[in-house]
This record gives sequence, C-alpha cells and structure tokens, in this order.
Amino acid sequence: MKNNKIKITILGSGSFPSDLEHYGPSYLLEINDKRVLVDCGMGTNFRLIDLGIDPDDIDYIFLTHFHSDHTTELVPLLMRLYLKIAIYNIKISPKEIYGPKGTPAFIETLKGAYYHKKHIDSMGEQIRYRELEDKKSFEGFSVTPFSVQHLDVPSYAYRFEIDGKTVVFSGDTSDCEGIKKAAKDADVFIADCSFHKGIDVPVHLNTKQIGTMAKEAKVKKVILSHLLPSGYDKDLVSEVKETFDGEVVLARDKMEIEV
Ligand SMILES: [Zn+2]
Repeated sequence: MKNNKIKITILGSGSFPSDLEHYGPSYLLEINDKRVLVDCGMGTNFRLIDLGIDPDDIDYIFLTHFHSDHTTELVPLLMRLYLKIAIYNIKISPKEIYGPKGTPAFIETLKGAYYHKKHIDSMGEQIRYRELEDKKSFEGFSVTPFSVQHLDVPSYAYRFEIDGKTVVFSGDTSDCEGIKKAAKDADVFIADCSFHKGIDVPVHLNTKQIGTMAKEAKVKKVILSHLLPSGYDKDLVSEVKETFDGEVVLARDKMEIEV
C-alpha cells in the first residue's frame, strides 16, 4: 500500500469569542496533494492565506454542524471561487462539501440570505454539497460520520482513516455515546475543550470528560481545541492528564500535528 503523507494544521483554535490568536474553529488536513477543511469558522480564509495556502485550492470541506462559528466563512470561500471563474476566467477543480442532515437546505438558505444564489449556482457541478450519511471512501482516505449531541443542531464528529492511522474531530459535542464511539483507538483526537474542570454544561465537553473518554477509548494523542477565554489561564492539559496518561496538547493556531 502507498504510504500517504498526512499533515494536520490548526487554523483556528477558538470559538465565538475568537481573537487574533484564536481564530474560529477550522482545521486543515492535507493528505498527499488533497486539502481537506474541517469546519470553516471566523478567519479561515485569512489563516490559510497567512500559511501560504490559496483558499481556492481546498478540495473538500466537512462541516461538523451549522452554527455560525463553524460556517461563517463558507460563503466567502465559495464567492472567491465564483469571482475567479466569472471575472478572471480561471478554471477551478471541483469542490465537495459534506455535512450532517440538512446540509443542502442549509447551503441553499445561506445562498439566499446573502443574495448569492445566482453566483454560486452558476458554478454548477464544480461546487457539490450533500449530506454524508455513512462512511465514504475518497482518494487515499475514508471518513465516517458519528452523530453527536449538541443542543438541537444536527452535529457530527468525523473519523478520518488514512493508511491505518485515525484522526478524529469531535466537532461541538456534549459527553455522549457518539463521540465515545468516534474516538475509539484514535491516533489523534481533536476535542471540543470549551470548558475547564468544574464547569459541567451538557452542550460542550470539559477537561474531565475529555480525560475519561480518551482513557476509555484508548486514544493516543489528544489536542484540546475550541477554546474559550475562560480557560485561557487554566492548565487544561494537566486537568485532562488527571485521568488520561497519553499525550495531551493545547491547540494553538497554525500548529502542525504529525500523525
Ligand atoms: Zn462551536
């Protein structure tokens, strides 16, 4: 089997109260020459440019859910492509967008709300979007969606499998069965770490819950992301390590993670 080259880059480690060091939730997964975005939060396009990556070169986008901190820059990214085609007559490679139940309706709504329907529709099959219902294979990798509990919004954790290596993105989730299944034996588990120890709200994970699930799921490395300012001055890594003895890393924007 061909050895695939894998690189994960944290584009945004923040959440709604993002700042210049914590852009909105977004991750770049590079697998050989394919570029995959997981979520598209505040600052995604600028962060890609900052890293020397043309946002137009993204091949796949996986949305964990539709909340705006995870999707704000989707339409601007599509409109960049539209302008490239319509004004500069430059060809683009097809883009595929996947998400949970309701993804096509969500994108249709956004297009209408921004008055960009005719622009985006003019790109036809070059922009494709659909619900990801089951495990799907792509060139060099596969993705399995797991339904997770996050308020009332259809939400996924994504499990990427690449050459026997597993990378899991929790998306936004409470402490539920779906995320525990998704994280099983993961090499890298990028976890929603909205809350430090002592805050227990059944919407996001806290460090204690992450530590327990990482231990039970036999995860190798945990990356704590989707950070909130209330946790900036806390030792989140140590809090997770109270129950989990694998590797724990605090996400930083532009951090690269080896798999
Ligand atoms: Zn969020």
